[in-house]
Amino acid sequence: ISSEEQTEDYLFKIVLIGDSAVGKSNLLGRFARNEFHSNSKSTIGVEFQTQKMDIDGKEVKAQIWDTAGQERFRAVTSAYYRGAVGALVVYDISRRQTFESIGRWLNELHTHSDMNVVTILVGNKSDLRDAREVSADEGKALAEAQGLFFMETSALDSSNVASAFQTVVKEIYNILS
Ligand code: GDP
Ligand code: MG
Repeated sequence: ISSEEQTEDYLFKIVLIGDSAVGKSNLLGRFARNEFHSNSKSTIGVEFQTQKMDIDGKEVKAQIWDTAGQERFRAVTSAYYRGAVGALVVYDISRRQTFESIGRWLNELHTHSDMNVVTILVGNKSDLRDAREVSADEGKALAEAQGLFFMETSALDSSNVASAFQTVVKEIYNILS
């Protein structure tokens, strides 16, 4: 078996969900391409991006799915969730309404995928300190109540972006290996 064949062993589908404009596409752009777009109204029609990661010395591929903006119409399809083993459920710390939507996103996730999908609650835009509407403690409390991992991130300044994805992938790897 060549090393290339071995790398096919782990391919994890991970979905990004959360209200429109919380920064899902930029989290993926930062993680996969180290890019940030301050005006990303037009989400480019990339269905998913595959990112190689090193977990405990093993190469793992994360296939990370991004919505094409359809969350605006509350019409993320079941195909989007199908086969997902991980999820980042994202809100914007500067818009409380996006935090209040989290329950609905979790319901949708659990309707369309396995209950055991490894999930992290992500409070994005942590760089917007002066505009904060949701405290880190509130995010943490919700995550604890729902049994989720939790992290605040900034796709703008990169903080915790890789950590958030790695936390999910590492946990999936630990469960499945
Ligand atoms: P999506 O609709 O959830 O995919 O959100 P986008 O990634 O398109 O981002 C929506 C807007 O928020 C864009 O103007 C981004 O530049 C901005 N944005 C995304 N992430 C951050 C962040 O971490 N900090 C700040 N300040 N702005 C962000
Ligand atoms: Mg988007």
